[in-house]
Amino acid sequence: MQTSILLTPGPLTTSPSVRRSMNRDWGSRDADFIALTHEMRERLLKIANAAATHTAVPIAGSGSLAVEAILGTLIPPSGKLLVLSNGSYGERIYNIAVRLQRPVLIVRGAEHEPTNLSEVETALENDLSITHVAAVHCETTTGVLNPIQKIAEIVNRHGRCLIVDAMSSFGALPVDLTTTKITAIIASSNKCLEGVPGVGFSLVEANTIAMSAGQSPSFYMDMHLQWREFERSGQWRFTPPVQVVAALVQALRELEAEGGPSARGSRYNENMQTLLSGMKKMGFQTFLRGDVQAPIIATFLEPTERWFTFEKFYSGLAQRGFLIYPGKLATKPSFRIGCIGSITSVEILSFLTAVSETISDLMARLASANDVR
Ligand SMILES: *Cc1c(COP(=O)(O)O)cnc(C)c1O
Repeated sequence: MQTSILLTPGPLTTSPSVRRSMNRDWGSRDADFIALTHEMRERLLKIANAAATHTAVPIAGSGSLAVEAILGTLIPPSGKLLVLSNGSYGERIYNIAVRLQRPVLIVRGAEHEPTNLSEVETALENDLSITHVAAVHCETTTGVLNPIQKIAEIVNRHGRCLIVDAMSSFGALPVDLTTTKITAIIASSNKCLEGVPGVGFSLVEANTIAMSAGQSPSFYMDMHLQWREFERSGQWRFTPPVQVVAALVQALRELEAEGGPSARGSRYNENMQTLLSGMKKMGFQTFLRGDVQAPIIATFLEPTERWFTFEKFYSGLAQRGFLIYPGKLATKPSFRIGCIGSITSVEILSFLTAVSETISDLMARLASANDVR
């Protein structure tokens, strides 16, 4: 069966070999699966050059579950979190911290701008009780790229711990944890790693996770206990999503074969440039300036002409085999198009043809409706 091309931030289009890798059973406590889990953890560390400093702690669930698990495990009730927010994923981190009853402060910036570094500096100078800072690498709400290296430099200079939500960038925008000090970075199986949904994980400093016993308010989502079980037996604490793990290992092998995150980032960048120039030719406007746009997902303003409604545009594209994503801006009607996944500019060019056909179709329908009236 022909599946649609997913131009979304994930789950996204996977390769046929990743999908095929799931087509068997595994015993979760069997040596074959233990080896698969080991390979997955090693490969995740290698992507970020973190084998000497960090440990990979996966957990079953979507990315937000891993965020909640790490915040609860690393921040003690006596700690205080500063959240740097310029979109809804920053807001989500704040909401999680509130629900976990951890003291939390939020610095909010404009959705179309990267994190303001002097505001980070000021917040840390003004409140010495802040122990942890949380930042979002690519804020998927808009696609804006936040300056994670510079944020890390400031947070470390002030002696605090940095937690990074790199959900929509990990695997495509290179991060080197040997040169950039980050206490914990969090991502999931189904975005730039091009696996299927079902596993979230953190690369967390080994000494930090070792010292985090008893801090999580959750029994299930205690990442310290999760880590301890991987170290002790190589096994998952609870039933693992075995097929998701198999798909992720296959996807990680394919990432290495492609040339690692920088090669993948280049492919996504070519997808993005093809997308932006094609959409611009058809009159669409982006929400972000080009220089702050990450090569992950683009936000377009909804056209104000009468032929356009998101629902009609979406279904015209869906009929032609492409699924796009609704907008999430607080201020303006918009929609989003992702350029990540197992696709190249060939698929983006076909998509642009589908957009052009959909527009002609919707305009013709509007014209004939007007004639009837
Ligand atoms: C996708 C995403 C998440 C997690 O979303 P889930 O739906 O829980 O997988 C978190 N942060 C960012 C920046 C994301 O793009």
